[in-house]
Amino acid sequence: MAAPMLFKLVRDEDVSGVSGTGEVADGVLWPDGAVALRWRGERPSTVHYNRIDDVKHVHGHNGSTRIVLVDPSGRLGRIADAHSKSEGPHGTTSGLCGECGFAWPCPTNVWASTERDLNEAWDPRDDEIGEAP
Ligand SMILES: [Zn+2]
Repeated sequence: MAAPMLFKLVRDEDVSGVSGTGEVADGVLWPDGAVALRWRGERPSTVHYNRIDDVKHVHGHNGSTRIVLVDPSGRLGRIADAHSKSEGPHGTTSGLCGECGFAWPCPTNVWASTERDLNEAWDPRDDEIGEAP
């Protein structure tokens, strides 16, 4: 089963005037898709949601708040590093990804090195496709 994933809510603009800006909450996305959200600040609270879509809907504020994956193990960085442009001797290159053979930057490299935006139709569970169960 997939492992829980950690994320932060980062607010660029304080629409509500309550939470302030910057990193305003820490979250866990559980393997079944449920979410636990812990608000920072003087009166912290914990909220549970059944789906990440509900977090986006309630807290997105039309793009002023972003979900940012926390990747303490550097997993995404390792994936991006593994999918690098193939290089032969003397600095020659085929222009392809040395790992998967797609034109570089390949889709996997782009995926692993792109910051997720709250308002994109991104579901972190999709990221687990292709991993061993
Ligand atoms: Zn690749």
